Amino acid sequence: LLKTVELNRYPDPAAKQLCEQLAQVMKVPEGQGLLLGNGSDEIIQILAMALAKPGARLMAFDPGFVMYKLIAELVGLEYVGVPLNPTDFSLDLEQALIAIRSYQPELIFIAYPNNPTGNAFDPMVIDAIIEEAEGLVIIDEAYQPFAEDTFMSRLGRHSNVMVMRTVSKLGLAGLRLGFLAGAPQWIEELNKIRLPYNINVLTQASATFALKHADVFDQQAAEIRLQRHKMQQALESINGLQVFPSRANFILFKAPAGRANGVFADLKQAGILIKNLSPVGGVLADCLRVT
Ligand SMILES: *Cc1c(COP(=O)(O)O)cnc(C)c1O
Repeated sequence: LLKTVELNRYPDPAAKQLCEQLAQVMKVPEGQGLLLGNGSDEIIQILAMALAKPGARLMAFDPGFVMYKLIAELVGLEYVGVPLNPTDFSLDLEQALIAIRSYQPELIFIAYPNNPTGNAFDPMVIDAIIEEAEGLVIIDEAYQPFAEDTFMSRLGRHSNVMVMRTVSKLGLAGLRLGFLAGAPQWIEELNKIRLPYNINVLTQASATFALKHADVFDQQAAEIRLQRHKMQQALESINGLQVFPSRANFILFKAPAGRANGVFADLKQAGILIKNLSPVGGVLADCLRVT
């Protein structure tokens, strides 16, 4: 298939075939628009650029996905990070509502499930945030294949809510393909900022092919969910570790105070690379994440 791709031609700027395939496989409700990005990172950037103006704010939750803050600051949006409850990383609704009222953010990102903590926030709490927000609320479902829950089917109830997905955590991170589903009026405006050829011909062809075999990826995700359960139990059986429940393809755990760097180094020595979040500090001190 890739041999037949015409590398001398510019890609279809609308990536029509790929969009149709995505809408079908990802069950995007009828009447919703799609914006494609070179990874969902690019979509975060497009949203941030679209809404940046002096005094405008982007709100998210900490600890959270680092790109929200990084991109906000790069485009001149003020970042408002609302702390999660330190004990279980649940969303503190009262604090979130106070932050929305006092900062009136143009843009709110809610990772569902959250990275790097792995938990999925209570959908009722997310609904309450949606009700309060006057700006755009983006539900970032990067880990949806492992969460077995989605806001996708609810699109259309609120015109300021959009769902973002990526093929990265399905095992196709090298393709760089993410998408945003939401009200066509919003998508149309955001498309004006997107560079016309952001999804190259090889990605369009290979993603369209991969999505024809969505069942293979579904099976893979199911296997990972099974292994996640086994890993969770194995970690819990180790004395001194605090293991946080996960709806993603990774598990966050806390080592005894001051031991995280040692655990990380010993595993690396044994040929196992995990993520050491301890250097981030704060509530993530002593925390490690295994994928
Ligand atoms: C990985 C990740 C992304 C970015 O995914 P890409 O499509 O690879 O850019 C976005 N949000 C969250 C929460 C992620 O974990």
